[in-house]
Amino acid sequence: MTMSERIDPKRPGAGEISYDDAAATPVERAVEPAAPDQAEGTQPDGFGCHAPADRMEAQARAAGNGEILDQFAKDYPRGPHDKPESMCPAFGSLRVGLRMRRVATVLSGSACCVYGLTFVSHFYGARRSVGYVPFNSETLVTGKLFEDIRESVHDLADPERYDAIVVTNLCVPTASGVPLRLLPDEINGVRIVGIDVPGFGVPTHAEAKDVLSGAMLAYARAEVQAGPVPAPQGGRSDRPTVTLLGEMFPADPMMIGAMLAPMGLAAGPVVPVREWRELYAALDGRAVAAIHPFYTASVREFQAAGRPIVGSAPVGIDGTHDWLAAIGESCGVPAAQIGAAQNAFVPAVREALANAPITGRITLSGYEGSELLVARLLIESGADVAYVGTACAKSPWSAADCDWLESRGVAVKFRASLADDLAAMDGLDPDLVIGTTPVVQAAKQKAIPSLYFTNLISARPLMGPAGAGSLGEVVNAAIAGKARMEHMREFFDGVGSGDTAGVWEGDPNLRPEFRAHHQKKLDKAARAARAQEMI
Ligand code: SF4
Repeated sequence: MTMSERIDPKRPGAGEISYDDAAATPVERAVEPAAPDQAEGTQPDGFGCHAPADRMEAQARAAGNGEILDQFAKDYPRGPHDKPESMCPAFGSLRVGLRMRRVATVLSGSACCVYGLTFVSHFYGARRSVGYVPFNSETLVTGKLFEDIRESVHDLADPERYDAIVVTNLCVPTASGVPLRLLPDEINGVRIVGIDVPGFGVPTHAEAKDVLSGAMLAYARAEVQAGPVPAPQGGRSDRPTVTLLGEMFPADPMMIGAMLAPMGLAAGPVVPVREWRELYAALDGRAVAAIHPFYTASVREFQAAGRPIVGSAPVGIDGTHDWLAAIGESCGVPAAQIGAAQNAFVPAVREALANAPITGRITLSGYEGSELLVARLLIESGADVAYVGTACAKSPWSAADCDWLESRGVAVKFRASLADDLAAMDGLDPDLVIGTTPVVQAAKQKAIPSLYFTNLISARPLMGPAGAGSLGEVVNAAIAGKARMEHMREFFDGVGSGDTAGVWEGDPNLRPEFRAHHQKKLDKAARAARAQEMI
């Protein structure tokens, strides 16, 4: 075949432009796709994330999912924003499942949601397929979708390949009450874990990680109660372990392990885990360190297993000192051994901080759950942190960090919205803004040096002496780049903004009448929806 034959979409029979043989990769079909149903088939997509959350929620309650939503409301309290302001929350649970060995993941949701989720998961390096059970209005309302999911799970349940299959209901199937709880608990020895992760019930993708981790821990706990379970691949520690809750930079669990050693303890598995057997080891820990404070459902399982939970983390001087004491006490370690651990590591943290001082005013925000910990480290490094915003809710496990920061005059905002983060940036005159993508973008437009929290701060060690000096270099380099940011702003000056951004040969074609017309349509739809509610 010539290249022109390959890329000419008008060639008879050519449905797609192809540049390589990727399209020839065989696709595993657990279930044949539903017959095309264009008129109704678009219906399940609804308004996607823009659907009114209260109506989706009412529909889910009417469909029998009230209990799940009530539990979400308790676990992940909302406000001020009640729907995702960044990425689809289901990405969190999807990523947790995709990172686990011998675990298959299947999504049930609108095609557009699944497209976005699989795109992002592969962008972030998922090296395996995401299963998808397609549906249309008919299969949704007749219950055929549930049958299709069940069939796909049966087809997939090969014990040679999988320990578990995770099936996730996205917004529309949750609102329609597709009953994943009715799936069998296991098929051929493969565990089946069904979860609902709707955007109108789970506020952030961080908390969605907890939804899946909590569900898997509940499953594993029931297995432990039922009888002996296998040890993790890497074997069991000969010392009592501390389970670590929250995704961390890979060196952090090792650093924590070194700090626990003088107390006769070892670092246990990190939850979210990487293989099913680690769940048993996690439940077997002497105590649980809630390094990230939003794992409410997981904490519930650990508490049911009788494990004490310790908040905050060994970051900075005070943080390391207090955390070692709290962990030691919760594990019944004698005071002398706790003191030995503190004496071994707190001076090292102090020295590392002194060697990497930071000068400048910083506003900080993110959705990882570690924002308060990073702020503590920055302050002990000498920075003036004026504002900390986190997309996560306040929890008992972040209370000590919040008190520590507020006692130093820092404005701490839980469930911070993008508007909060931008207002802090505008009002507090920072030398550096650490934040999410839209915050960093806004900072760049104002020529304020900025760093992405997720890519540049979360991807560094934070714990103990190793974490103490890790932020200085990147933060100081960013603050020193102010002149470069000014130059960049000058360079891009005059290229327009919003829908007039770019280089235009003539004047941008604004067509405000189109916008006004569309706005009228939206207003009319909103009025009709309000009238419907009154009926
Ligand atoms: S599943 Fe995610 S992407 Fe789809 S509508 Fe819900 S929140 Fe939006």
